[in-house]
Amino acid sequence: MPQPVRVVHGKNAEHYLFHCIRYSKQREEMMDQLLQIRDKKDKTIDISETLLLAPHFDNISKSQRRIIKEVLFEFISATTRSL
Ligand SMILES: [Zn+2]
Repeated sequence: MPQPVRVVHGKNAEHYLFHCIRYSKQREEMMDQLLQIRDKKDKTIDISETLLLAPHFDNISKSQRRIIKEVLFEFISATTRSL
């Protein structure tokens, strides 16, 4: 399981996930993968902190939630290795 993101770096999860310049390369890879996910109406999903940390929206399938969790885990793993 990923560690709670707040212990990794930064003021809060939003900073870590979306703003911290330390992780811009890893974030680019995460966003690339997230942008390939389509909701049930075949639209790209809105990438938000809520989506990453608690993806329970009706318009996203179970398998898509699994992909989001995997992508997030990859980001956390990659950024933890780079510390
Ligand atoms: Zn930072």
